[in-house]
Amino acid sequence: MIEDKNQQRTQLSDLGEFGLIDHLTKNFEINHKSTVKGIGDDAAVLNFKKGKIVVTTDLLVEGVHFDLSYMPLKHLGYKAVMVNLSDVYAMHAEASQITVSIAVSNRFPLEALEELYAGIETAAKIYNIDVVGGDTTSSNKGLLISVTAIGEVENEVYRNGAKPNDLIVVSGDLGGAYMGLQVLEREKEVFKVNPNNQPDLDAYTYIIERQLKPEARKDIIKLLKELEVKPTAMIDISDGLSSELMHICTQSKVGCDLYENKIPLDPQVIATCEEFDIDSTTVALNGGEDYELLFTISQEDFPKIKANPHFSVIGYITEESAGMHLVTRAETKIPIKAQGWKNFND
Ligand code: ADP
Ligand code: MG
Repeated sequence: MIEDKNQQRTQLSDLGEFGLIDHLTKNFEINHKSTVKGIGDDAAVLNFKKGKIVVTTDLLVEGVHFDLSYMPLKHLGYKAVMVNLSDVYAMHAEASQITVSIAVSNRFPLEALEELYAGIETAAKIYNIDVVGGDTTSSNKGLLISVTAIGEVENEVYRNGAKPNDLIVVSGDLGGAYMGLQVLEREKEVFKVNPNNQPDLDAYTYIIERQLKPEARKDIIKLLKELEVKPTAMIDISDGLSSELMHICTQSKVGCDLYENKIPLDPQVIATCEEFDIDSTTVALNGGEDYELLFTISQEDFPKIKANPHFSVIGYITEESAGMHLVTRAETKIPIKAQGWKNFND
């Protein structure tokens, strides 16, 4: 899109730094009482009357975390916010503010940054987040975007609270974001050979959306509160189920049995895995970027989530000495290892 010669290209230098910040942020609304002062001074001022706040930050680097040849800038802005909100929700907290910092080279015209900020604005609107500050600077070549999210929490949930016999639960389904990436990478290669080829991506809409437009599971935190379920441990799935489960087990000093046949997979993930001849369990375990919530609950809470389509019980917590295992469909037990596909999720 930024290569499109017909599109208007306003040089960033035409606006200057302050003109640019003002231009990009002028539409942002402030909706939270806790935001006393947003954009415009040396620092934002926040007032949380009740007490504990959570703060989390993530940095996304072009060429490492995203590829602009298939990632529209609007989606990148949206995803950069989601990645952070997901971390806030994984603490059992409510997100209320973000700051956004960008480093851009002069290869990006103003119109490109408008797209990026349109995605940020949409995310902020849908998730009811105030954008209260940030920083804008230049880079030699690529684009960097860093978001910091702030939220309020009453009863935070750490990674270290899982107890033997607790159930392991995951929201949504897994592996979609990774398979979406595989399809996009393949289309990119096809496009290089034949730029006139219009790909038919209808069979992959769900998984491509999982990759390009992930949603942080704010709804799950609300649902857990409504159901009066307080997880004993929780983490969001950014790197893949196996590595996140290992974080919970290691920090909680417990083991686990994870059941292969319980891992939730969308039919599109299964079909695309068959097409690419990749094992769907491997994809769910190591794929990453699904931004679902992985948590443990005490057995007493099982009736509260049992029939709920948002949740899958995928295993249970064991004593530390038992180790961490995947129970396969053939009912053999194999040790869980964190693989992680380093090329896209470090
Ligand atoms: P300073 O010189 O103190 O760093 P800046 O001129 O960088 O201040 O920022 C002015 C105001 O605009 C501050 O409130 C800052 O938080 C905000 N701001 C700067 N860049 C961005 C951005 N990319 N997105 C959102 N807010 C920004
Ligand atoms: Mg600054």
